[in-house]
Amino acid sequence: MLKRQGLSLLVCLFVLLYASKAFAEWQQHSFSTMGTNIFVEVYHPQTEVRDQAIAAVVAEMERINQQYSTYIETSELSQLNKVAAARAELNSTNLEIEGVKVSQELFDLLVLSKEISKLTQGAFDVTYASVGYLYSYPDKQKPSDQKIATLLEAINFQHLLLDAQNTSVSFANKDVKIDLGGIAKGFAVDNAIEILQKMGITNALVTAGGDTRLLGDRLGKPWIVGIRDPRDRDKQAVVIPMAESAMSTSGDYERYFEQDGVRFHHILSPKTGKSTYEVQSVSIIGPQSVYNDGLSTAVFVMGLEKGIGLINALPEFEAIVMDNNRRMHYSDGLGQ
Ligand code: ADP
Ligand code: MG
Repeated sequence: MLKRQGLSLLVCLFVLLYASKAFAEWQQHSFSTMGTNIFVEVYHPQTEVRDQAIAAVVAEMERINQQYSTYIETSELSQLNKVAAARAELNSTNLEIEGVKVSQELFDLLVLSKEISKLTQGAFDVTYASVGYLYSYPDKQKPSDQKIATLLEAINFQHLLLDAQNTSVSFANKDVKIDLGGIAKGFAVDNAIEILQKMGITNALVTAGGDTRLLGDRLGKPWIVGIRDPRDRDKQAVVIPMAESAMSTSGDYERYFEQDGVRFHHILSPKTGKSTYEVQSVSIIGPQSVYNDGLSTAVFVMGLEKGIGLINALPEFEAIVMDNNRRMHYSDGLGQ
């Protein structure tokens, strides 16, 4: 009897030790960049590999911030905005505008942006920033209707002229400004996952704001990914078990201010230069964060019917939308 008890105690101890060892082989790290919170969780038996992996993700996210933030004057994107607009103004009477040479990476991001614009009938458009730059959510600032009217014409992805041979970019309108806020986080998450994979990591989670991508599973179990309740920061509206997949959420609660009972938030219709109000939250599930990110912003602008219609026509993607009455809607593939 005693012997048996001793044995089961031993088994218990072994299980506990084993479980804590597996737990110790996970490592988490939180930090801030790109104006958002980043969370990384990696699994690897070796501490050094985990440390290196997390350091590499931090470095990559910071690189992307330095290169593409419109808040950093020296960023490649700020320089492009400045020089391309100045050349467009100088050449407004001529047909040929000299392109601004950009990195292959920025060029590819702009090609992808235009692709998503075409796919979403212009709902996603990086030139939204031609008006969008006049909003400051922390300062509760927004442009007047008159100002919007004068700049609205500059919002049009067709104004972005991309020369693949020279990897150069020109603006066909002097008031164009671009901002990659609608896809940069998704892009950064994809790059982070790729870096982790190359380091031999097979199980990881990377989240940047509303963009999450998963490598593998949680050692035999799925990850549980939440969609926040748009009106209660401490509540989840939905939780979804997921593995080897990605989900991006766009919401009207990330950046906003309220004035006279109206919520001015950071997702703008390229047609009006103003926030859209048909839905409160859009989540897109698909294999790559950069597309999920762009599509979640686009579906938010397109609204419930058009937005879910678009996702139903794209076999690789699914959508979960909360409308402005807080009702949940799902794309066909989610079987609701
Ligand atoms: P977040 O994860 O910060 O909520 P989203 O994926 O929801 O980001 O995208 C919102 C961001 O996209 C805005 O902060 C802005 O930078 C940019 N954006 C806003 N409206 C548009 C639009 N119509 N097309 C492309 N980008 C947009
Ligand atoms: Mg987005």
